[in-house]
Amino acid sequence: MTDNSLDHERIIARLGTHRIIAPKRFRLADCDPDSLGDLTREDKAAAKDALKVERKRIRDLQERLYAEHGQSLLVVMQATDTGGKDSTIRRVLKGINPQGVKVWSFKRPSEEELDHDYLWRYHQHTPRRGMISIFNRSHYEDVLVVRVKKLVPKSVWSPRYEQINDFERLLADNGTRVLKFFLNISKEEQKERLQDRLDEPDKHWKFHAADLEERAHWDDYQRAFQDAIRKCSTDAAPWCVVPANRKWYRDLVVARAIADTLEAMNPQFPPPEAMLDEIVIPD
Ligand code: AMP
Ligand code: MG
Repeated sequence: MTDNSLDHERIIARLGTHRIIAPKRFRLADCDPDSLGDLTREDKAAAKDALKVERKRIRDLQERLYAEHGQSLLVVMQATDTGGKDSTIRRVLKGINPQGVKVWSFKRPSEEELDHDYLWRYHQHTPRRGMISIFNRSHYEDVLVVRVKKLVPKSVWSPRYEQINDFERLLADNGTRVLKFFLNISKEEQKERLQDRLDEPDKHWKFHAADLEERAHWDDYQRAFQDAIRKCSTDAAPWCVVPANRKWYRDLVVARAIADTLEAMNPQFPPPEAMLDEIVIPD
């Protein structure tokens, strides 16, 4: 065993999993967005190396999942604006075979989508056997923005938690694992990240005045996230509330959770066709 792998184990052992296991008592206010688990700022360089190891685990397991062609994985990524959904996806999935992963970003629903039940547009993009799908925003928007901005009445959004649990159970019972991340940043951190978008010309394109309007609803969003996590943390589809103020910690927690989930799925290469050793490739 090299020093590197010892260092990796040391880092991973001191990360939190941040998986919600007692959802009924869950309080978002108790989750510190600055948490580094049992790590410290001095562990940043070692954590970046550990991320490379976790990425390799994901890469190897993804190849098995694809070859097995039996199960699939759906990763749900939710956060407030500037929470880091895009950069987490970019940094955690770097180096993965693009043929085995699909990323779907959900924006405001189209007219056609609104003419169907709210889950219709999401269900079409759940992963095929052997595949990993990432939802950048997801069906949870229909109990988040839809609730906060009062796009439908409470009588419409409040039954959705149970419908979402049923939907995720349906997926799980049919071979799709569901893993959900809430990237948890603080209100101060959001302010800094929005300010960066104003200050840095390369980030101007990311700034939308509408984000300030969303920020004004910060407390309502926190409540809506807390309810979604309380009501929709199931064995079939757990939530991880990831401390996300420090990007290096966030990336490592997410990568490790994905790698561990794939490992638990235990994908196997299919058996070779019979008697490969008797085959002679013709000249
Ligand atoms: P972004 O991900 O920053 O490009 O923004 C996408 C926008 O689409 C956000 O303002 C979301 O709140 C909005 N959005 C996503 N899903 C829904 C939905 N189901 N209903 C209404 N708005 C949504
Ligand atoms: Mg945005």
